[in-house]
Parts: sequence; structure tokens; C-alpha cells
Amino acid sequence: MANFRFAALRKTLDRQPLPINYPSDKASDYYGSMTFNRSVMKEYLTGESFKGVVQAMDKGVRIDRNITDQIASAMKAWAMNKGVTHYTHWFHPLTGSTAEKHDAFISPIEKGKAIEEFQGNALIQQEPDASSFPNGGIRSTFEARGYTAWDPTSPAFIIQNTLCIPTIFVSYTGESLDYKTPLLKSMQALDIATVDVCKMFDKDIEKVYPNLGWEQEYFLVDTALYLARPDLVLTGKTVFGHSSAKDQQLSDHYFGTIHNRVLAFMQDLEIESHMLGIPLKTRHNEVAPSQFECAPVFEETNIAVDHNQLLMHLMDVVARRHHFNVLLHEKPYDAVNGSGKHNNWSMSTDTGVNLLSPGKNPQENFRFITILANILKAVHDNEELMRASIASAGNDLRLGANEAPPAIISVFVGDQITATLEKIENMPSAGNLDTTTEKDITIDIPKIPEILFDNTDRNRTSPFAFTGNKFEFRAVGSAANTAKPMFVLNTIMADQLSKFKVDVDTLIEKGLKKKDAMFDVAKRYIIESKSIRFEGNSYSKEWEKEAARRGLSNNRTTPEALGAFVSEKSIDLFERHNVMTKTELEARYSIKLEKYTKKIQIESRTMSDLATNHILPTAINYQNRLIENTKGLKEVLDSKSFVKLSKNQLNTIKDISNHISEIKEYVEQMTEARKKANKLDGDLEKAMAYKDIIKDFFEIIRYHADKLEILVDDEMWPLPKYRELLFIK
Ligand code: ADP
Ligand code: MG
Repeated sequence: MANFRFAALRKTLDRQPLPINYPSDKASDYYGSMTFNRSVMKEYLTGESFKGVVQAMDKGVRIDRNITDQIASAMKAWAMNKGVTHYTHWFHPLTGSTAEKHDAFISPIEKGKAIEEFQGNALIQQEPDASSFPNGGIRSTFEARGYTAWDPTSPAFIIQNTLCIPTIFVSYTGESLDYKTPLLKSMQALDIATVDVCKMFDKDIEKVYPNLGWEQEYFLVDTALYLARPDLVLTGKTVFGHSSAKDQQLSDHYFGTIHNRVLAFMQDLEIESHMLGIPLKTRHNEVAPSQFECAPVFEETNIAVDHNQLLMHLMDVVARRHHFNVLLHEKPYDAVNGSGKHNNWSMSTDTGVNLLSPGKNPQENFRFITILANILKAVHDNEELMRASIASAGNDLRLGANEAPPAIISVFVGDQITATLEKIENMPSAGNLDTTTEKDITIDIPKIPEILFDNTDRNRTSPFAFTGNKFEFRAVGSAANTAKPMFVLNTIMADQLSKFKVDVDTLIEKGLKKKDAMFDVAKRYIIESKSIRFEGNSYSKEWEKEAARRGLSNNRTTPEALGAFVSEKSIDLFERHNVMTKTELEARYSIKLEKYTKKIQIESRTMSDLATNHILPTAINYQNRLIENTKGLKEVLDSKSFVKLSKNQLNTIKDISNHISEIKEYVEQMTEARKKANKLDGDLEKAMAYKDIIKDFFEIIRYHADKLEILVDDEMWPLPKYRELLFIK
């Protein structure tokens, strides 16, 4: 039998790397050439329109309808020069990926002719038939109107002859149905609250915006092998597979020399990314075999999120060109590391200051400490919400599994900052000093020691770690839309900083000087948030115990974690800052639960199928061969020798029989359990049943299937094995 697995293997072994496509131009020559960026706008727009767009981009000023026709026609002219024929509103529906519906520029005119047309109305608003996007019950199908509206802060771009216009996606009744809307709103809330606090330090600061620098981890697998693994195709991960004798134990892949075929892919990806203005800068091998990472230079969050969504799409397209498939799943293979997407987050001002940079002088350090105290307090008060923001079925498999932080949120700041915070805790509060007699002993800001930035101080196990001038949210999953953790982080910071302002003003009213009041409030926050700080090994069992003692949450799974989105406290928080309404939050909650259920359901069905029609028939065939062989032995051997020599073989037959029967039994039970779970009412009940009952079968079924993989003749095994999938030929 021409085994599918061997056919696939032969194909991958024959692959030659595609040549590395060095373009003749320098990267700086083609960088951004496929984006309608500022310099292109300047060239194509009149002075008035250009000013209008720039004000919208920088200051959030609404674009006058009068100039949108002009902008649209400039966009069309630019795009047509590049061979573009279609345009689309490009948005992030709640499926987690991106959506586009292409319309041609072409518009018929009289006498059977046509012209290319693209007007202001088509640029700023569209009404896609949105009935099939998840909406969590916000709209019923018969009134499934949804609008997309242009986001001028993110440049339009060209991909495969189509002009893509970044948009938000909202329902007819105004509720957001996407990831971008709450992100933009959270950025506005953060801006308002942070500028208020920044003005205490510097009157010139008018705008604050958050930055994001993501690091995207991923696996590559040869397309031929990928297609021979129905589980990879259907679920993005392997549901079966015995571990390879060698995988990552020698740490010989991490930062190793990049395989030619992979390098050609990476080069191609970089060129395409650079043309789209995605500032990719870093590429390297990751820990697991055939696992890699790329990272851009950080950008303003909205752009960075769009760029990450775009990159994930590009990766897929470019990889196929190189006969690879990209696996963005958080845990495609058991037994080796999974993939994450570190989110490096900071806040900048329009005066060019990174608010997360420790300063060079006491004044700047005081500002840093103030911001830090607020971050610590915000994370401390909202740790469950942060956990919820990164929850997904895939990420559940990675969190706490030795290559990623646990589901417990904590903050790492490093020795030096810890020492500084401890010093502050022990300093007297200004409010406690008798300011009439001890005027000069009011808090002496220079007493705060200078914080030297020490780059070597790293803790790779912390879910939220300070790394010099930014926080790294490490618990984010590789497939996630980063808008989610980012709008949560922005909103909790906005909330915290506005509370800070109120707390400081209250003390000022009581007669404290501004600086003293600020110090006292910051100090109080540092003390109150102490339990969120953890400098040790977050992967350890001890930390789990310690965290429980400290009262920190440990919501291991998505259905448990998601509840934090719809608690009264969260609804209040998001509504207070005009980021999301109760209806929107509840809709998202139900969409996320449903997605979880469906993911586990698909995994479970895939497992049943593969077990029943791939693995069991193969095992039975092999078992029959052994039985035939044993019968033959009995014919040719005398009975004494037979008893002695057939013992091992008979044991193998028994082992195989046992695994076959266990698999059969558990697959049947799992199918029955699925039927029951599907009949349950309520999103949460269903998700919990899938988590507690269905998922429980996975391990045991897999155990027996993986045992069969190492017992059955290699040549008969139908699925590519880990040792084949994990190593690029
Ligand atoms: P590491 O793997 O050591 O964390 P990388 O160089 O892979 O470091 O990634 C660092 C990421 O952090 C990059 O995306 C980088 O642009 C980003 N980054 C650097 N400084 C900042 C900052 N001030 N704000 C946000 N992101 C930042
Ligand atoms: Mg990192």
C-alpha cells in the first residue's frame, strides 16, 4: 500500500528551498510602498484635505464630509497606479480573525461602458451583510445590519490588488461588533486620564498614547505533512502523536542557524511586511524544533494591533508559497513548548517622554514611580480581568505548562525597583508629618534613589514583567487578537489614573502640598498592591500555594476566567470610561463561551474520527498480522519451543487488544457525553460540560493511541509522526 504518510514524507524530502528573493532596492526604498501613508497623502491630496486627515490622525478630530470625496478619489488614483481593481473595508469581527468583502472600483455607465469609481461615501461607511458574524445576541438575523466605518488613524493598504481600508464594525443600534472599537475607545479613555495626571508634572503634555510591541511565535510545518494530518487541518493542533525521541531537550534549536527553506520564507515575509509598513525587525529560532519568532519595532497600539492581524494573515499566505503551513495555535504539539505573543506595552506623551522610563534625575524618577504605583494598583485591583483578557481554549493548554506563565497574574519589577519601592514604603507619609513645625521635612523628593536601568534583570517566568522601559504581558496567546489584552490594560490604567487624580485632589483640599499629596497616594498604592508583586519563579508549585494564600485568583480555564468580563465591577469599569456597555460585554462573554465550546467540540469529534477510522483499523491490521504469524509459528515449531518463543509476541497482541478496546470504549463514552452536553441550555453550562467532561476523555484516549503508535509497524502508521512533523527537511 502506498502509505499516505510515506508519500507525504517523500514530498517533503524532495523540497528544495525557494531562492531567497533579495530585492534590488534597499528596504528603505520600498518600505510602506503599499500603504496610503502621510507622504503619499501629501502628494495626492490638496492642502486642505491633507490637513483634515492629519488632524483626524493626530488629534482625533472628525473628518469633514466635504473632503471625504477628495480623499477617496486620491486613494483610488494612488491605488489604481499600483494595479488595484477592488477595495474592501477591512475589520476585526469577533471571530478573532479579519474580514473583508471586496467590491470592484468598476461602475457601469451608459452605452454599455463602465468607469472606475470610488467615492467618499464608500470610503467612510459600508453596510456589509453581517448576519453570519458572531454578535452574541445583539442583533437578530432579520435585522442583521452592521456598519463598517473608516478608521483614519490606521493607514489604508494594498494587498493582492485590493485596497484595504481599516474600519470599525458596529451594529445598526450602535453596539460594537469588533475588537477595534473598544480599543480605540480605551485609548481615548487612557489619554484623558493620563494627561490629567501628567499635567501634575508637565503642563505642556497634551496627549498620551499607549504603545505595543508584540513578539509573534509560530510553528512551521511542511504542507505535505500538514495535509496528511487531519487534526492539524481541522483544529490547528495535533490531537494524537507520541513524542519524538529527540525534540527540544538539547536546546539546540533556540537561536540556532535558520534552515534555508525557513530563511527564504522569513525574507519573503519581511519584504511583504515592510512594503505594508509593518516594521518587522527581529527573527529567530525559538525553543521547540520548527518554532520561530518575529517581532517589529513597537508602534502606537491601534496600528500595532492592525499590523499584527495583518502579519498573521501574511504569514499564512507567504508560507504556502514556500510549501509550509503556519501554526498559530498556542499548543500544536504536546511535550514541546507552545507559542505565545508577548505584548510589550508602554505609554508615551506628545512631548516625547516614555512614561515607563525610569528617569535620569529625581524629578523624572518621581514621575516614573507615580506611574508605576498606578500600574501596580491597577493590575492588583483587576488581575482577574487581565486573566480573562487572554483566555482561549488554546491558551489554556499553554498557561502553567512550564513554557508559559501560570493563570495567576502577578507583576515582576526586578531587584532595584523592589528595593526602591521598599524604601518608599518605609518613608514617612507627608500627611503624618507636622508640617507647621517641620516644614522642611516634607517629603524630600531627591530621597528617592536614582533608579539605574539594569537590562540584565529579567524574569522569564512572570506573566507581567517590567523590562526596563515597558511592561511585557507574556501570558498572551500566539493566536490572539492583541486588541483584547490591550483594551483591558488601557481601561484599567485609565480608571486607576483617574482615581489617582481624585485621591490627590482630596489630600490637597486637606491642606497638603501637591507633591506631598502625590507622594502619599503613590505610597499608599504601593503598599496596597504589594500582594501582586512576585519576583520568584512563577512556574513553581510553591508560587501557586503562595498566590492562593495572598488571595490572588487562579482561573485555570477559559470558562472560569471569562466570568470576570461580566462581573458588576467590570461592567461598571467599562461603562464608566465609555469603552463598552453591559450589552456589549454580555454579548462578548457569550460569544467567547460559545467559541470555547465549539473548539473543544471540534477537537473531540476529530479525535473520535481519527481514532475510529485511522488508528483502530491500522492497529487491527497489524494485530491480525501478528496473529497470523503466531499461528504460523505454532505450525513450524515444536510445542515446547512455541511456548517459549511466542510469549513476547502474544503479550504484544494482548497489549494491542487492550489499547484497541480502551480506545473504543472511551470514544463511545465521549460521543455519548457530547450528545448530552449539546442538549444543555446556557452558554456557561455547555462550556463547563465540555471542559469538565468531554475534555477529560482526551488524555486517556490519546494515551492509548500514542501507545499503539509505538507498537504498530512504522510502515503501516497512517499519520505523520512527531519526529517527522517537527523537523524541517
Ligand atoms: P525580548 O525577546 O528580549 O523581550 P525582543 O527584542 O524580542 O525582546 O522584543 C522586544 C519588543 O519590545 C519589540 O517588539 C520592541 O519593539 C518592543 N519594545 C521596545 N521598547 C518598547 C517600548 N518602550 N514600548 C513598547 N514596546 C517596546
Ligand atoms: Mg519578550
